[in-house]
Amino acid sequence: MERIAWHQYFMAQSHLLALRSTCTRLAVGATIVRDKRIIAGGYNGSIAGGDHCIDEGCYVIDNHCVRTIHAEMNALLQCAKFGVGSGQSDIYVTHFPCLQCCKAIIQAGITTVYYAKDYKNHPYAIQLFEQAGVKVEKVQFDENSIDVHHREKADMITGMIADLRACGADEEKVSHYEQEYMKLFNE
Ligand SMILES: [Zn+2]
Ligand SMILES: [Zn+2]
Repeated sequence: MERIAWHQYFMAQSHLLALRSTCTRLAVGATIVRDKRIIAGGYNGSIAGGDHCIDEGCYVIDNHCVRTIHAEMNALLQCAKFGVGSGQSDIYVTHFPCLQCCKAIIQAGITTVYYAKDYKNHPYAIQLFEQAGVKVEKVQFDENSIDVHHREKADMITGMIADLRACGADEEKVSHYEQEYMKLFNE
């Protein structure tokens, strides 16, 4: 049995957290890791017990939703709430952090930021991370990899499509399945 690599494991956790986001503008997840252990996690959301953007719509001021607390901030605040040290730890985020989160990450003593997607990477954030000696690394992450049987499923479907063709099935239908397959599996 093949074991999932650490980067993929923690990045998958951040992507799962992003699925809990309550703001419709961007679904972000963040996982704080120390010594290969998850110590905190967060997603884009309102304060506990507050209205959710998904129910009430976003509260937009100057083109920003002011209702939500960013995933990275929520993860750091979880550390604060429960008295868990965030120094000397790493953060895995689905998207490159915004300027505010960048400053909080540096100040909380995070040593490495791993992110999956570029998102308006602010030059000042990049500069601040550099000045503070915080390493920033992009991690290749395939969202399909959360499905551990992804490869076998894809292979089975391509096999079935080839068999349908070999049996002389209606080409229009076969190519429709083929297109659906490509959409589902990002092939
Ligand atoms: Zn919102
Ligand atoms: Zn942010």
